[in-house]
Amino acid sequence: MHDLIIIGAGPAGLTAALYAGRFRLNTLILEKMACGGQIILSATIENYPGFPGGIFSAELIEKFKRQIEELGIKIENKEVLEIKQTAGGFQVKTHDRLLETKAVIIAIGARPRTLGVKGENKFVGRGVSYCGTCDAPLFKEKDIVVIGGGDRAIEETIFLSGYAKKVNLVHRRAAFRASNILLERAKNNPKINFILDSVVEEILGQDKVEAVKIKDLKRGSLSEFPCQGVFIFAGIKPNTDFLKNFLDMDEEGFIITDEQMKTSKEAIFACGDCRKKSLYQVITACSEGAVAADSANKYLLNR
Ligand code: NAP
Repeated sequence: MHDLIIIGAGPAGLTAALYAGRFRLNTLILEKMACGGQIILSATIENYPGFPGGIFSAELIEKFKRQIEELGIKIENKEVLEIKQTAGGFQVKTHDRLLETKAVIIAIGARPRTLGVKGENKFVGRGVSYCGTCDAPLFKEKDIVVIGGGDRAIEETIFLSGYAKKVNLVHRRAAFRASNILLERAKNNPKINFILDSVVEEILGQDKVEAVKIKDLKRGSLSEFPCQGVFIFAGIKPNTDFLKNFLDMDEEGFIITDEQMKTSKEAIFACGDCRKKSLYQVITACSEGAVAADSANKYLLNR
């Protein structure tokens, strides 16, 4: 039986593993995809302390990984389907295994939220994308529409401007959630055009994206805007579907914890973007990962 299973190998899960390894807990990490979580959707991280000028996300994650590998902790590529409480702890079910553990840290992160407009599903991979870093080279010298007004939308708009002919940022308000440092950069970029107080109502085309239908919310008018790419950054959705009815969550599915990262079930802790909180950043994910591992260690010592 493991002391601790950490589900998810993004910044929160990897930091939890770093601390768990140093507590000498018998720890296993399960990750369904590549390590890194949502930060692999960004090219660089500029606000993680210690890296003036920023650091490539892939490089930062590689460093996190190396640090936990030095402690002998293994990462297995497996998707967790279910967690069940048992007399001695928990049973963690994957496609091919039933693993036993005394405690669990959930660091399963979040994924981009879809917009839900007509044409969105139809054109995914044919002009609609949720990752500028992944798909920007496909849109060299093309006209792009970006939707959203948060940090991701502005960061990706700036990144895409390095490839596209023009990037048109459509945001439903005139005020932004994004940090001013990013907004200043976007506003000074001649390849970026702001379309504010407006929403994309439909994505149009035959086999691939050819235009979007934009509604001006102030005037109530509709117009067709020709473009070849639509990048959607409308916030995040936690990957917690398989935990519904098992842990307390808010109405959007973010896991509710206390300051020690304790969830509604004893010996289950949660950290990172899957958790309800006020600031979704690499630095907060890491800090919560450390706290979750400390709480798990204290639980195991008192058990
Ligand atoms: P976010 O901060 O939640 O912003 C989502 C944006 O999408 C908002 O501007 C929102 O508009 C808009 N939106 C939501 N639903 C919409 C709809 N149906 N139609 C049109 N627009 C819609 O999400 P995010 O930018 O994806 O970032 C997620 C989290 O990661 C945030 O907490 C963010 O700070 C963090 N993050 C940080 C960094 C960084 O620090 N460099 C980088 C990336 C992400 P309203 O504003 O009107 O609600």
